Amino acid sequence: MTRWQQVTDRLHAACDSAASSKEDTRDKVTLLAVSKTKPVTMVAELAQVGQRHFGENYLQEAIEKIEALQQSPLTEQIVWHYIGHIQRNKTRDIAENFAWVQTVEREIIAKRLNDQRPEGMPPLNVLIQVNIDNEDSKSGCLPEELPALIETVKDYPNLQLRGLMIIPAKEDTDAFSRTKRLFDSIHEQYPDLQQWDTLSMGMSGDMAKAVAEGSTMVRVGTAIFGERE
Ligand SMILES: *Cc1c(COP(=O)(O)O)cnc(C)c1O
Repeated sequence: MTRWQQVTDRLHAACDSAASSKEDTRDKVTLLAVSKTKPVTMVAELAQVGQRHFGENYLQEAIEKIEALQQSPLTEQIVWHYIGHIQRNKTRDIAENFAWVQTVEREIIAKRLNDQRPEGMPPLNVLIQVNIDNEDSKSGCLPEELPALIETVKDYPNLQLRGLMIIPAKEDTDAFSRTKRLFDSIHEQYPDLQQWDTLSMGMSGDMAKAVAEGSTMVRVGTAIFGERE
């Protein structure tokens, strides 16, 4: 998969130039391969060369891939992230099949995910999606709603609150830096958040900019897998 190699190289270069000193920042930014609409064979090929984290938006499609790979030894090294909109009646499927969910935006959804996480599975890693542009039409909780949501989520035993996720509007050129400030201020405000370590922002078109402005996870589809149908 040469496109994947190119993306990995670009990401490493972005990490190197974002680093303040000689410190190695390459392992501080996770590449999430967004495999929506792409066949499970492509997921398997990428896992074979070392890609670990995969993101899916459509539940039915995702579960088919997860189940198809369950027979394969590769399944051990794959970490599945749900990055699509969450409908209330779909929380059980997410709680049972994923390691991460990046699109929590309301308390009722968090509560259902916590209640439905099967016993024996590790806590579900959660990112709160923030509507950083304050757009009516967009998913995510508003920045002013964030404290109440954090207060609830942080105490659920079956959820591990890890950070924030955004999908900014194209024209919002300082969304990354505003979100980074928000992310840091929450860290200061809630010292008991043990694993507040993930800021998911940046996609195929803007991953280097996102890394320069503090992203710790870029979600890349097209640049790895090619255009979607
Ligand atoms: C599809 C998708 C991506 C990947 O977008 P590309 O532009 O193809 O890299 C990232 N994040 C979310 C939430 C998506 O739905």
